[in-house]
Amino acid sequence: MHQVRKKSSSVQELALGGQVFSRRHFIGGTVAAGTWLVECGQPIQAAQSAPMDADYDVIVCGGGTSGLPAAVAAARAGARVAMVERYGFLGGNAAFSIMPCWHGLQEHHSGILTKFANMVESFGVGPSPLKEGSHIEPEAVKILFQTMAEEQKVRMYLHHFITGVVMDGNRVSAVVTESKSGRRVFGAKCFVDASGDGDLCFHAGAKFNMGVEGETQAMSLRFRVGYVDFDRFANWAQNQPAELNLERLVREVREGGGKGWGKAFYFDSRLDRLFDQFRDRYPDLPKDTYFNCSSIRPHELSINTTRIYDLKGTNADDLSKAEVALRKQAWAVWRFLKENVSGFEESTIIETACQAGVRESRIIVGDYMLNTDDGAKGREFPDSVQTCRVQFDSHDKQKYDTGGNGGFVDVPYGVFLPKGLDSVLTAGRCTSCDHLMNSGFRRMENAFESGEVAGTAAALAVNRQQMPRSLPVPDLKDILRKNGFKTCQADRTTGPA
Ligand SMILES: Cc1cc2nc3c(=O)[nH]c(=O)nc-3n(C[C@H](O)[C@H](O)[C@H](O)COP(=O)(O)OP(=O)(O)OC[C@H]3O[C@@H](n4cnc5c(N)ncnc54)[C@H](O)[C@@H]3O)c2cc1C
Repeated sequence: MHQVRKKSSSVQELALGGQVFSRRHFIGGTVAAGTWLVECGQPIQAAQSAPMDADYDVIVCGGGTSGLPAAVAAARAGARVAMVERYGFLGGNAAFSIMPCWHGLQEHHSGILTKFANMVESFGVGPSPLKEGSHIEPEAVKILFQTMAEEQKVRMYLHHFITGVVMDGNRVSAVVTESKSGRRVFGAKCFVDASGDGDLCFHAGAKFNMGVEGETQAMSLRFRVGYVDFDRFANWAQNQPAELNLERLVREVREGGGKGWGKAFYFDSRLDRLFDQFRDRYPDLPKDTYFNCSSIRPHELSINTTRIYDLKGTNADDLSKAEVALRKQAWAVWRFLKENVSGFEESTIIETACQAGVRESRIIVGDYMLNTDDGAKGREFPDSVQTCRVQFDSHDKQKYDTGGNGGFVDVPYGVFLPKGLDSVLTAGRCTSCDHLMNSGFRRMENAFESGEVAGTAAALAVNRQQMPRSLPVPDLKDILRKNGFKTCQADRTTGPA
């Protein structure tokens, strides 16, 4: 059994010696003693040889919104691909935050995202999000992602938590995982960090930003309430003051929303404005929030209103506090609804998300950082490899910003390349953007498409025996386009692939 022990003295010795081990030390499928392992962002020395469990062309870290398309794209290009995921299922935030809202999908789909959206209906797990609603049942995401990974023969390592990396100069050469099987080491020629939190890049020592002056957007625990009588709810809602913003709910319900399969709807209300009046009775009701709901299953609401600020999604102590507080908030909201709002009399909480949803944590600094001004101006870049919908979604304590122009901005290749690191690309939420731009980039349609870019680039780099940074962008664009992907705003004029 390989063990790595953290010894500050040996760290210092190594650092002073300046010794950097190369890939030669992996001969025989073993990470040699003395190789740099990096755990919790700090270099440590292997106490003894660590067995190399397997070696791949491309390893994708995280099997979520951006990880799945990254793995599929790399495998489609002929790479031997593994996907390492901490949970026992794929789907990322869409699945574990029971997050059904794939807004923008109708206007914004190409490449693998189009295939995924079409699969929803053909697999029989809901109406096509391309035809109506922009909703996808979160449970369906798990089986669809898994099916797509299997189709491309992606090796799935579920229940594997990435806790470190093996470095070879500036290059990551392996990831270290912890699991029921103990510590394992997986090598690859190229990596995609699709962990949301940028865990791989963090362990490799990449630079990152974290919110505005350390203040990140709120974490939230979504929950589902079942057995809601939508007609009674709408009758109650239409007599409420306009400041509660319930008109959309009433309209959607009158049009049949929430009453049958395919009758998904969404409303963004201010029911939370009632919370202060009821805080004496339900002290755990959330503060500084809003009340946003989706209905994807008949007679059910998926509610997004719990919130906690001033805690970090990459700090385990903060996460523990968040889970406890947010769960109390969810049950307080449900009690408030059941005891005070018509239509909820028979309701019950069916499910809370399996973890606090993290909207913002580490944003890795790339060769280029996409910024709010780029978004506002819909800037075009000659080395663009993706388009991003400019619809912000920033849940800051001071200001909930859903601005943006609803248009598109080009995404230059440099945002995918963590500064100072070779052999790694980022995808999804941790990709290099400023705070507000990132709140738009992290949306699922954009995060998903970024995965296709990163995976395609990783496979191309392996195939050409180059580092991702050295790839000619026109070649990457050609491959993406051949696969029906929109690489820039100009491509969009040709219509959906
Ligand atoms: C409460 C909430 C509501 C939201 N609402 C919307 C919305 O309405 N519309 C919208 O488009 N977007 C919404 N989002 C944002 C969106 O869901 C995410 O930004 C997007 O899914 C991020 O994709 P990703 O691939 O970067 O990360 P994820 O989808 O989170 O995937 C990361 C994967 O990596 C795994 N992982 C993480 N760390 C490790 C590790 N160390 N080792 C192994 N595996 C690891 C995770 O388990 C996960 O599967 C919301 C987010 C939250 C939190």
